[in-house]
Amino acid sequence: MLEGKVALVTGAGRGIGRAIAIRLAKAGARVVVNYNGSEAKAQETVREIEEAGGEAMALKCDVSDFSACAELAKTVIEKFGRLDILINNAGITRDGLIMRMSEEDYDKVLDINLKGAFNTIRHFSPTFLKQRSGKIINISSVSGVLGNAGQANYSASKAGLIGLTKSVARELASRGICVNALAPGFIETEMTEAMSDKAKEAVIGSIPMKKTGHAEDVAEAAAFLADEASDYITGQVLCVDGGMAI
Ligand code: NAP
Repeated sequence: MLEGKVALVTGAGRGIGRAIAIRLAKAGARVVVNYNGSEAKAQETVREIEEAGGEAMALKCDVSDFSACAELAKTVIEKFGRLDILINNAGITRDGLIMRMSEEDYDKVLDINLKGAFNTIRHFSPTFLKQRSGKIINISSVSGVLGNAGQANYSASKAGLIGLTKSVARELASRGICVNALAPGFIETEMTEAMSDKAKEAVIGSIPMKKTGHAEDVAEAAAFLADEASDYITGQVLCVDGGMAI
């Protein structure tokens, strides 16, 4: 259970982030619901948590902005006095074949998916170190584990997150701080909605379990990595993918 804990979930207005925020609140955590563009959806997430008897607040921040993340950390610590769980979930895709990929599409994906996680970890690690406890969970992807044609930028960002996870895990382990990554496979959200039926069928065919996953499947794994039940686990990548990365 997460009673008394404070959690921050980036990109929690919709999709996987929203499911994680709701799941952590259900376990008793007070949750900061970060958003960038989706203010109304973030407020909806907060409302859903409050209606279930939990506590949450929405905070806007573009995670790719280093100084905005410093402000976010300041606001969270002023409001709650601590942070126990940091979930770096915010992410985007800008797919395309390498020969046609623009510099802008490459940079944008790296800035949000990878630098965004660096920014929050950088600004919250003094708090974790002072507390001598904390759980950092980075949402990577099977694309970062296996690579994926048409996703050079996205796969690079997600593989980079795995390197970031392992290095920071080594740096912070002696202070009781756990840093792990989740690598979801094909999860039904707005991110995957845009795919054609043919492309979806092809992906499902490559999943040993022959079915897609749901945001709640990822949220359950996040709840485990956020809980003291996983206190002896750090630097790991847990695939939530129906067997895709076997
Ligand atoms: P989604 O429905 O498209 O949601 C993306 C989230 O990221 C939104 O909440 C969005 O917030 C947030 N975001 C984007 N740019 C941001 C920024 N600059 N600052 C703060 N937040 C930002 O995608 P999803 O499927 O839930 O994906 C969530 C995470 O899981 C991503 O990291 C994704 O790469 C990863 N993942 C997804 C799948 C899948 O199959 N769906 C598989 C593997 C990994 P706003 O709308 O407020 O901007």
